[in-house]
Amino acid sequence: MGLRLMCVVAHPDDECYAFGGALALASDRGIETYVICLTDGQAATHRGDAASGEALGKLRREEFRASCDVLGVTRYELMDYQDGHLEFVHFSQAAERLVERMRRFKPDVVITFGGDGGQNTHADHMMTSMLTTAAFQWSGQLKRYPSAGEAHKVSRLYYVTANFLMPDRQPAMLMPWTVTLDIRSVRERKTEAFRKHVSQAPLMEKTKEIFERYGAEEFYALVATAEPQAARLGTDLFEGLS
Ligand SMILES: [Zn+2]
Repeated sequence: MGLRLMCVVAHPDDECYAFGGALALASDRGIETYVICLTDGQAATHRGDAASGEALGKLRREEFRASCDVLGVTRYELMDYQDGHLEFVHFSQAAERLVERMRRFKPDVVITFGGDGGQNTHADHMMTSMLTTAAFQWSGQLKRYPSAGEAHKVSRLYYVTANFLMPDRQPAMLMPWTVTLDIRSVRERKTEAFRKHVSQAPLMEKTKEIFERYGAEEFYALVATAEPQAARLGTDLFEGLS
């Protein structure tokens, strides 16, 4: 079986602006990828032409699909949690649903947000980080959720982080990175995936300068591994895995 990458996000568009480089690079290497998005983004500030939350959710589902296609994502799934309400979900029930998916897909590597919530301390992003972190640990422990499938130990968990602070925002406190990904070969595809989120075009306009300035790289922090080791710097999420 080849290598597998799972990416857990909160909203449609997180997969491209935050993780698009890693996903496209993995796709180019023939690594199977699975993106799980916990909400359909009905609470977004930018609402396109949608007349209702439901209509926006429907629109953003389509945009998410188109974006994942551009990034070469193998499998993608939008779950049914309410946008803006992840901090109120039942923690262990939501984690169980992620555990069940990890045990079924058997990823080698999982990527998600860090405690800073993708630099904007959005509670949905922070909860995605915490739920995924718990699921990563529990997936390999059969005593947790024995009915959620056979235990699967994921080799590595990474949080996405950054080498800059967002201007005009309360600064988040960022995790130091251990992996610098050179994403120049897929940079155009990452932008193209973002463009598929037509309803979020104003957001893209707002962040354009940042992407121009910092868009050649993505940064990740290795936060947990199956084998105890000292932190070290690298340029590949899959280094040493086969
Ligand atoms: Zn988001």
